[in-house]
Parts: sequence; C-alpha cells; structure tokens
Amino acid sequence: MSKDVFIFIEQRDNKIQRVGYELLGEANSLAQDLGQKVIAVMLGSGVSAHGEELIRYGADEVIVVDHPILKEYLTEPYTKALTAVLQSREPEIVLFGATSIGRDLAPRIAARIKTGLTADCTALSINPDTKLLMMTRPAFGGNLIAVIQCKNHRPQMATVRPGVMQPMERDDTRKGNIGHVDVAFDETDQAVEILEIIPKIKKTADIVQAKCLVSGGRGVGCSENFKVLRSLADVLDGEVSGSRVAIDSGWLDKDLQVGQTGKTVRPELYLACGISGAIQHVAGMENANCVIAINKNETAPIFGVADLGIVGDLHVILPKLTEAVKQAKAKGISYTAPAAQQHVGLENILYHTQNGIAYLTINRPQQLNALNIKTLTEIDSIADKLQKDDSIKVLIVRGAGGRAFVAGADISQMRDLSEEQGREMSLMAQGVFDKLKNLPQIVIAAVNGYALGGGNELAMACDIRIASSRAKFGQPEVNLGLIPGFTGTQRLSRLVGDGDSKRMIFTTDMLSAEEALRIGLVNAVVAPEGLMRTCRDLALKIMSKSIYAIQLAKRSINEGLALEFHQGLLVENDYWTECFKETGDGREGMTAFVEKRPADFNRVEKS
Ligand SMILES: Cc1cc2nc3c(=O)[nH]c(=O)nc-3n(C[C@H](O)[C@H](O)[C@H](O)COP(=O)(O)OP(=O)(O)OC[C@H]3O[C@@H](n4cnc5c(N)ncnc54)[C@H](O)[C@@H]3O)c2cc1C
Repeated sequence: MSKDVFIFIEQRDNKIQRVGYELLGEANSLAQDLGQKVIAVMLGSGVSAHGEELIRYGADEVIVVDHPILKEYLTEPYTKALTAVLQSREPEIVLFGATSIGRDLAPRIAARIKTGLTADCTALSINPDTKLLMMTRPAFGGNLIAVIQCKNHRPQMATVRPGVMQPMERDDTRKGNIGHVDVAFDETDQAVEILEIIPKIKKTADIVQAKCLVSGGRGVGCSENFKVLRSLADVLDGEVSGSRVAIDSGWLDKDLQVGQTGKTVRPELYLACGISGAIQHVAGMENANCVIAINKNETAPIFGVADLGIVGDLHVILPKLTEAVKQAKAKGISYTAPAAQQHVGLENILYHTQNGIAYLTINRPQQLNALNIKTLTEIDSIADKLQKDDSIKVLIVRGAGGRAFVAGADISQMRDLSEEQGREMSLMAQGVFDKLKNLPQIVIAAVNGYALGGGNELAMACDIRIASSRAKFGQPEVNLGLIPGFTGTQRLSRLVGDGDSKRMIFTTDMLSAEEALRIGLVNAVVAPEGLMRTCRDLALKIMSKSIYAIQLAKRSINEGLALEFHQGLLVENDYWTECFKETGDGREGMTAFVEKRPADFNRVEKS
C-alpha cells in the first residue's frame, strides 16, 4: 500500500538547495493531514552528513543513495537510483523542486513508475474527504488556476517552484532515521560523460533571496532609466528586478524576471514601479510582506495587491524617494517591513497596522500557535489599544506558519492548574474573546490551518471567518476530560445551532473547511494562497462603506443576540435612530443618494 510523502532533496556541489527545505516544510503539512511521515531522499557522493540537517528541517526519515556516479547530476543514474528507492517504498506523494534538475528528473521518473506529474505547482493541499493531493498550478497562459488530482495512479507527483513554499523553523530536538540504499550501477547507466563543468558566472543578484526588490516594468521606459531604480535599491540594500516586458525588451537579465515564467519572490519590501500588475506578474510577488506600487494609472490592477499605492510618474517619484531614504538613513532612521514589525513588549503576537487595517498574528508556529496565558494577555492588550484607536477600522487575526491558525490551548501549561486557577483561566479567556467580539473594529479571522479548541473559539470571537481550504475546525476538549471553556459551548451553539455544536463537541470530529462552511461556522473557503488577499479585499470593501453605520449594525447584532427578539428590536430601533442624528452618516448617505453622487462619509464630524 502506498504511503508517506517523499521529497527529492536536490544538492549541487554537495550543498542542499533551498527548495529542498521549502518542500520539507510543505510536506510536513501534507503528511500531517494524511497521518503519514515525511521522507527525504538525497542522491550524491559523500552526502550522508546532510541527513541530520534534513531531519531538523522536517524530515522524519532520510534515505541516502551515496555513489561516486551521483556526484554531479546526470539524468540516467539519477533516474535509476530514485526509481529504485521509490519502487521499493511505494510512496503516496513525491515532490520535486521545479528547478532545471527537477524538471528533467521528475517526468522521467513519472514515466518509469507509470504515474502522472503536475509540473510547476504553486500550492498543494490534501482534500479532507478523498485524501487526494490537490495540485494547484496556473493554466492557459496563467489566465486560469487549475487544481489537478491524480486519482488512479500512485505516487501522486508534483514539481513545485522554488520560493513558493516556506521552510519550517529549524528544530534541533527533532529525531529521525537515516538509512542508505545501495544501487548497483554499470557502464550502461551512463550514456553521457561529463567532460568539464564550467560554472556560470553569476552576473545578476539572486532575487529570490533578496529582502527588498525595486522592480520595474514597461513604465520605466528604457534600460538607461533603470539607473534610478538601482539607486533606490542601493540605499535600501535591495536588488533590482522586473516584469517580463522589462526582460523581453532587453533592459534586464532574464534571471531578474518576477512572475509565472520568472522567479517567485517573497521579499519584505517589493516596490513595483511602472508595472501594471498582470496576473502572471502578481503570481510571482503577491507573497511579499509589503508591496508599494508606483503607477501613473490609478486603475492599474497592481494597486489591488499593494499595501501602499502612489499614483504618479515614477521618474519624478523615485529620485525623491531615494533622496528621502538617504536623509532618513543619515538621521539614523532605519526601515523595517511592516509585516515583520513587532510591538515592543509582545512576545507571542506580531502586530502591525497599514492603511486602516490592523494585523494580529499569533506567532508560536512551533507550538501550532497554542494559546497560553501570555498569548491571551497580549491579545487583551492589543484589544485595549484598538478600543481607543479610531484610525483602525478592521482587524485581521491570523496564525503564523502554514499549519495552524491556533491549534488549541497550551495543555502543558493547563495541566498543572488547580481548580481555582482553572476557573480563572476560563474567565480570563472568555473576557479576552468577549472584548475582541465587541471591538468597534470589524474583526476578520483568516483561518489558515488548524482552528481547534481555543483556536475555534478565537475564530468565533471574530465577526467574519474566512478559511483556507486547508483549514480544519474542531472542539476536542472532551478527549482531555474537559469541556470548551473559552466561550465555546455558548458561542458554537449560537452560531451553528444545537445539533451541529453538540456533534462537534461530543464526537471531537475535525471538520474540513467545506464542512465548516456548510454548517455556517465559516463564511467562505478560499485557496490557501488567496486567503490574505481575500481578507484584505473584504476589509477594503467594508472600509469603503459607512464605517459608522457598520459599527452601529455590529453593536445592534451583538447586543440583540443576547436578548429576546422583541427586546432586540428595541436595541435596533435605538441604533437606527442614531443614524438620523446630525452627526450620523445617514444624512450624508441619503442626501448623496438623492443627489446621485458618491457619499463622502469622512465629511461628517462624528459625535
Ligand atoms: C504565459 C505567460 C506568462 C507570462 N509570464 C510573465 C512573468 O513571469 N512575469 C511578468 O511580469 N509577466 C509575464 N507575462 C506577461 C504579462 O501578461 C504582462 O504582459 C506583463 O507583466 C506586463 O508587464 P508591465 O506591467 O511591465 O507592462 P504593462 O502591462 O504595459 O504596464 C506598464 C504600466 O506602467 C505604467 N506606467 C507607464 N509609464 C509610467 C510612468 N512614467 N510612471 C509610472 N507608471 C507608468 C502604466 O500605467 C502601466 O500600468 C506572461 C504572459 C503570458 C501569456
């Protein structure tokens, strides 16, 4: 029977290529969803010493084929060795990097072992019902995103582009087996002889590793004009990259192309200058922590993925920006990417704000973001801050890492609590989640992975829940002899009803995102790579309305839910009346409607 997730670990000059670590991180999520192991396969000569490192980065087992013939990559011997390993172990899934080696090797292996191959994937996940690997890749020139399954053959195989997946954090406590497989080679295995290896002299920077990219497109105009981008990149300690137009026009080297047929990049700061934001370009840069777009055309699609947009001529703006950065640096002011910014005093939470949206990230990925008292205290302090900050209209709550939103409470901490301390912890968590629920801001949960126990309760404390198709929901407390105590028994039954809440709590069954959608536990399910974009778009949509009216509606719903229907109507009546105040948004909204003009809610001074 086929089982386990196998990764082909690519090495060049006996150095593990980064894509191998990225695939190990991804394989860990997939293997967890399947309840299986991650096996790293490494071919080469004198490569055994890398085994421990691969385990620290997520492999449960390492298989090494060590032979002098495998020193440099050669199609035939590599195909023979890897085929032998895979045929002896019958994996469920095999993943390769979509590098020149992976793109040569993977199709040969697929043909040898008579299975399919999905090339150049940008996302992978396990279908919770069928347990099939869902392989996402752009299709028809990037105009469609296809999700491909390999139903009838094993293993399910995919190549994944470098830079798309995230490696796990190195964990020195991880343990695993390192085994060797001997493969007997003869002369017939090597039809090609390597006479000499001439290393390519790298004239260009490695844009995949760059922390800051100043990227130019057609709007830059000519090769000469890229000097201005270079100057800005230099003061930001970054690199220059470009859209395909910049490469096809001969302004930049092919290695510097960002996008579907170029490189996938994940810098802390991406400055898109004179780039329209075609889907094929965005596919390569949308995971940047912070995107600043400079474009003459205010309707350019790039502004849809930008955290900050500057409408104007890049030839005017870039020199000024470079000068401003120089001056700031001279004064000792240094740049920190907003998403990496951490508020002073917070250990388990990342918090930053941008354009009226606050992002709160539970940041304990090694512990699957489990809630402990410190984390709850920190959420509480952020909620206190938000209550007084009317510049922030929407809060997005998410979990760090690719695997969990919040996978429960920290049981190791709870185990030692006395009866009284147990009561206090529940009261505290209930208080924090209630504060979150009643914030003036609209709170969106971006559920990127496991939302279990306290995690599901945290998601329910948010106003709207958007789930990645990889997310899983559950209330497993009765497995531990506990009941949900962070608002779960009350909120879950109000949200999904008596039957479904009891089913979830009594059986502890984990629900897939689709099932959670069906019972009304989440509002939408989206592909993992589209989760943050969907949440941000939703936030912007909400912010484009009368936020004053939205906040009153939120209060009316929240307060009314705790009341008998007719008492709830009285609450609604009070808030409706507030909209008619001179300082309410109702006057401006209705007048604008009658005058057939867009309402300007910011004109109205709020009481
Ligand atoms: C199969 C396939 C694969 C592809 N792969 C890639 C890929 O990997 N990467 C990629 O980038 N593209 C790729 N493309 C091409 C992609 O579809 C777009 O054509 C390309 O990204 C457009 O590049 P651009 O944004 O530089 O140019 P344009 O779309 O022409 O946009 C130029 C922008 O510059 C702005 N502008 C002009 N002058 C100024 C100024 N002075 N100041 C400020 N703004 C200004 C304009 O308003 C405009 O928005 C692919 C296409 C296909 C079909």
